[in-house]
Amino acid sequence: MRIILLGAQGSGKGTQAKMLVKEFGIPHISTGDMLRKNVSDETPLGLEIKELMSQGFLVPEDIIIKMTLERLTLPDTKNGFVLDGYPRTLLQAQELDNFLLDLDLQYKVGESDTVVVSLDIDDEIALKRLLKRFEQEQRSDDNEASIRRRLEQHHANFKDILDFYKDQDILVSIKATEHDTPDIVYNRIKDALLKLGVL
Ligand code: ADP
Repeated sequence: MRIILLGAQGSGKGTQAKMLVKEFGIPHISTGDMLRKNVSDETPLGLEIKELMSQGFLVPEDIIIKMTLERLTLPDTKNGFVLDGYPRTLLQAQELDNFLLDLDLQYKVGESDTVVVSLDIDDEIALKRLLKRFEQEQRSDDNEASIRRRLEQHHANFKDILDFYKDQDILVSIKATEHDTPDIVYNRIKDALLKLGVL
């Protein structure tokens, strides 16, 4: 089962991804984590993107696409994965789509194995959560200007990405309001996966 998790910053994507990988034993592929590791390890890639990331700008398309698709080529993704933080642009979605089609042929699995789960949350709640996370974790890109920039870029791209997946009929939208606990959201995701027949 391949799950592509979409949602604004602060929508709880990371939390839900962790719960899914724990239950289904598939790898959690978080582009943000991979990029941050490059930054902390001071790899050439890390040095190149450090400044962009700390200001909340997207990493250039060629870099992120190459890094993510290379990761998805590793054998631990054979039975699926939870992808968190990608795609963030239509181009990224298209590149992933082509890549997965090739992988389907290689692994001889059906396309119906792939599902896109979108976590829907109001901006105000997202902003509140992110500011709280900033206070607690001191993540270097969680300052208010960066958070606003990230939410803006999310909105600029999100509709195109949703439309792309809607057309393919593999999209489920999950409501996540302020008072929904992670367990409540998780159960909604699982219900949706059951209905889609991927579980
Ligand atoms: P958030 O969802 O709060 O922005 P992430 O950990 O997902 O946090 O991403 C952190 C940063 O990593 C982003 O602000 C961006 O600079 C970079 N990044 C992560 N994923 C992508 C992507 N798919 N395309 C471009 N940049 C990305």
